[in-house]
Amino acid sequence: MPIKTGKQYIERIDQQNINIWYKGKRISGPLSLHPAFKGLMQTQAALYDMQWDKRFINLMTYTSPDTGDPVGLSYLPPANAADLVKRRNMMELWSKQHHGFLGRSPDYMNTAIMSLYTAADLLEEHNPLYADNLRKYYAYCRENDITLSHAFIQPYASNLSGQIDSTEESIAAKVVEMNDEGMIISGAFLMATQGATCEEILVFPSPSPAYFEDINPFAFACAVPNNLPGMTFICRESYGALSSFDHPLSSRYEEMDTLVIFDHVLVPKDRIFCYGDESYSRRLFKESHFHTHIAHQIITRYIAKIEFLLGLYQSLAKEQDVEEQTQTALNTSKMMTYLEIFKALRLSSETEAVHDRSGYLVPASGPLLASSILFPQIYPEIIEMITILGSSGLIMIPSQHDFTSDSGPYLHQFLRGEHSEARNRVALFRLAWELGASAFGGRQTQFERFFFGNAHTTALRMINNCNNTEQFKTMIRDFITSNDPSPH
Ligand SMILES: Cc1cc2nc3c(=O)[nH]c(=O)nc-3n(C[C@H](O)[C@H](O)[C@H](O)COP(=O)(O)OP(=O)(O)OC[C@H]3O[C@@H](n4cnc5c(N)ncnc54)[C@H](O)[C@@H]3O)c2cc1C
Repeated sequence: MPIKTGKQYIERIDQQNINIWYKGKRISGPLSLHPAFKGLMQTQAALYDMQWDKRFINLMTYTSPDTGDPVGLSYLPPANAADLVKRRNMMELWSKQHHGFLGRSPDYMNTAIMSLYTAADLLEEHNPLYADNLRKYYAYCRENDITLSHAFIQPYASNLSGQIDSTEESIAAKVVEMNDEGMIISGAFLMATQGATCEEILVFPSPSPAYFEDINPFAFACAVPNNLPGMTFICRESYGALSSFDHPLSSRYEEMDTLVIFDHVLVPKDRIFCYGDESYSRRLFKESHFHTHIAHQIITRYIAKIEFLLGLYQSLAKEQDVEEQTQTALNTSKMMTYLEIFKALRLSSETEAVHDRSGYLVPASGPLLASSILFPQIYPEIIEMITILGSSGLIMIPSQHDFTSDSGPYLHQFLRGEHSEARNRVALFRLAWELGASAFGGRQTQFERFFFGNAHTTALRMINNCNNTEQFKTMIRDFITSNDPSPH
């Protein structure tokens, strides 16, 4: 089966009938009609439809090596520089469509599963069955254009319990039984963004320390359909609304986060990628260059988002008639500088790409890891620039209904700008408000801060990646020891 259409995406999600809870009630109807999911699902559907669009199909797909059907380009394991560029161009089409607001546009997880696949050989020595499972699962996702989310991070209570308690008592995610049909897992994952609006979840808890001489039940990786018995999704409150005038961003891009609970869930045996040995969990991440491959997708999203924020800042400056002022020029040029830096980092990751031991081309990790450290720092800074420029305009932003009500003429009269009608001016400020002062905007900032792990984790990833820093220390040692020992 080739790439799917938006309609197929919606049908598949609606048919899953998962065990999902929202505000204390189990959702029984189709998710695509529920206000908490409707807008996002329409956006995702439009992304899938782009793949079939005559203008884009050749840029967004390649020919399946198995079936000859068109399949998503983000599944393509890059073999050479041209592949990397094709992948980037494809990801750019999607990220410009959602302006960088979707952390789980399909190319993100497609890339994740592609990267794990490139290291499937590693699993041969662990268990050839798992290697085979991973290869087949990758092909299954590619051929069926499966929408995936991931669950890696566990709640605080699980982390507390996992590494100190006995296996029986621990509530950390673990394998409770292995049998002929597969493995039975229990535990909870704090966050699966778009957990409910995807078809499957990649479950991959962070490896636990090796306190187990034999089989470590906390070390496993698998992928499961969302509707297996024993799975429960609990949503946070929705930040979304359906009017694109009132809520220009959340009406389109509200990606629901879900707590995912596994209560004795039987994972079919052909869905197990790793089990019992934390060293393989760790190595699978590392040797698949997981963080590097997905960072190539993420930086493309970052670039689209900076462009959008820059456009918003400039539009606000024009509306406030402060385009010529010093602070505006400083901020605008700073954002432009950030944009140039991120483009340069992406380009350098491509031009300095290296082949892995299986012959796949991996973008250079240094520039991409740098982007994953920099973006969480600059995002809140840019948002602050926007909110300061927007000032009280972010607050007095009447709704669509106000404009059509009997008091509407007052709004048209008193809220207009120098060159803009009141409705357009308010629409612009509503956009700035959603980004800078709404629950949706707050979640976006938190998302960008923690997208790639906490700051400590991302710092260590960067430090461990740079294995050539010894030379700098040597340089300093040589420098100070070359001082003239005799005082003048
Ligand atoms: C909106 C949102 C969506 C998310 N979606 C997903 C998802 O789809 N799938 C998924 O698996 N995860 C998801 N996450 C989880 C995300 O990966 C984690 O938030 C991130 O890895 C940090 O983990 P944590 O939240 O447990 O915080 P912790 O790692 O527990 O950190 C808590 C605080 O302690 C600090 N800290 C931690 N360790 C140290 C240390 N050693 N030294 C000093 N300070 C330290 C951190 O900087 C932070 O301030 C999402 C998170 C957010 C906010």
